[in-house]
Amino acid sequence: MRRSSPARKRQLQLAHRKYIRSEKGRAWLRAWRKKWLQSSAGKRYLAARKRGPGSSHYRAKQKHWLSAKGKAGCKRFRDSEAGKRYTASAERQAYLRKLEASARIRERRGQYRRTERGRAVRLQASHRRRNRLKNAAFDLTPDQWLAMLQFYEHRCAYCDAAGKKLTLDHLTPLDPGDHTIQNVLPACQSCNSKKSRKPVEGLLTRVGCSVVEFWKKRDAALDAILAQEAA
Ligand SMILES: [Zn+2]
Repeated sequence: MRRSSPARKRQLQLAHRKYIRSEKGRAWLRAWRKKWLQSSAGKRYLAARKRGPGSSHYRAKQKHWLSAKGKAGCKRFRDSEAGKRYTASAERQAYLRKLEASARIRERRGQYRRTERGRAVRLQASHRRRNRLKNAAFDLTPDQWLAMLQFYEHRCAYCDAAGKKLTLDHLTPLDPGDHTIQNVLPACQSCNSKKSRKPVEGLLTRVGCSVVEFWKKRDAALDAILAQEAA
């Protein structure tokens, strides 16, 4: 196999991830970090962190610039010859442009996160984080989840309620269950907590949903989503 093939790269990535999360891998990482912190780059990093936001040095400086004395000092500098030169300098303009650009990026990111797809992407990320150490497969993609929501017309898969905030429910709870399209369904908060870690049949009886119909619809959803993906 060629070293540069994407499949090979992915395989190596997965192997690395598995190793780094294992007991042995974590111990190796801890030892490496300890050693790195003693190197010159590590010492520079520690010094910068000490003086960065949250450090006493940084807080004291910030307090000074916000005080009357600090503000007066700023004004004196701005009104001085050197201050005027700095205000007009390319350096200052570049700094202002950078501030503006980062505000624009923040704004766009906020907009994306409020879209349906943005929410789905974040949902997957949070599930991955929370369950990193569990022995579950994690290949549910945001697109699959969106397709699932669409198939169920944004209704709860158990009680068929519409217009409620939907959560991601694992049919078989994680560990032993997986975070895959075969094991997730949209559920309203009430059904999700009623079901908890119990088998789904009990909940279906409680909300008056036919067990046969429930599985029929779920299988149809899987077929539709996987067929759409293969196409
Ligand atoms: Zn429900």
